[in-house]
Amino acid sequence: VLEIRGLHKSYGDLEVIKGVDVCANRGDVISLIGSSGSGKSTLLRCCNLLEDSQQGEILFKGEPIKWAGSGASRRPADSKQVTRIRTNLSMVFQQFNLWSHMTILENVMEAPVTVMGRDRAEVEEKARHYLDKVGIGDKCDVYPAQLSGGQQQRAAIARALCMEPEALLFDEPTSALDPELEQEVIKVIQDLAREGRTMLIVTHDMDMAADISTHIVFLHQGLIEEEGIPDQVFANTQSERLRGFLKSTR
Ligand code: ATP
Ligand code: MG
Repeated sequence: VLEIRGLHKSYGDLEVIKGVDVCANRGDVISLIGSSGSGKSTLLRCCNLLEDSQQGEILFKGEPIKWAGSGASRRPADSKQVTRIRTNLSMVFQQFNLWSHMTILENVMEAPVTVMGRDRAEVEEKARHYLDKVGIGDKCDVYPAQLSGGQQQRAAIARALCMEPEALLFDEPTSALDPELEQEVIKVIQDLAREGRTMLIVTHDMDMAADISTHIVFLHQGLIEEEGIPDQVFANTQSERLRGFLKSTR
């Protein structure tokens, strides 16, 4: 679904991604772990072109992103391609980013109707379906402020699902939540993993990562320091840095 080859990304003089390869095939659940500032969010944002990158290739379903310019002035060349990729790699943020002036149902329907131009009645049916699926089917007509953090995040996940994307990107979906609300969101993500959804997840939750991932990527200062299947990465850790990181999360 998504392939990243030799990606480099700098903010001005600060290089934060220094040549990273990641390949997500259909059904893969890839967890990106690493200490604060290691470049996890940046990498995720580069995947769906929320950030420009200066070097390297990004392929979506085998289709390479077309670039204009090079180095610091490199930008995606084809805005239609960008829209196609963003709508197919929908992102769930740490701070749910729901529209406060819209009901939950309107939030979930917004992008499919206005960005993707889908039929309103069909979208509404799907939106209700996905809100049911994440366990808040009874909250369609309330506003985000009337929901708990865990419910808001589940609404944000329903919103991402309603776009019927090829893959979901999560940036620390549970870290803004109280521990007891965290679990209800983790459960939704576990269900999505069991359905075989393709997902890239930035997380500090090593238990969730071990439980649901097909692949773990440990980033250190903008490079992949270690990666592999969870058993190998967690039980047979090679890198001293990863060992230290795992100790610090316990
Ligand atoms: P955390 O676990 O704290 O979320 P992270 O691994 O997600 O960390 P990033 O947010 O990707 O880290 O940041 C990587 C580096 O890039 C950091 O040094 C950060 O200061 C820098 N950085 C991130 N966003 C910007 C920006 N918009 N402008 C300049 N520097 C940035
Ligand atoms: Mg981050």
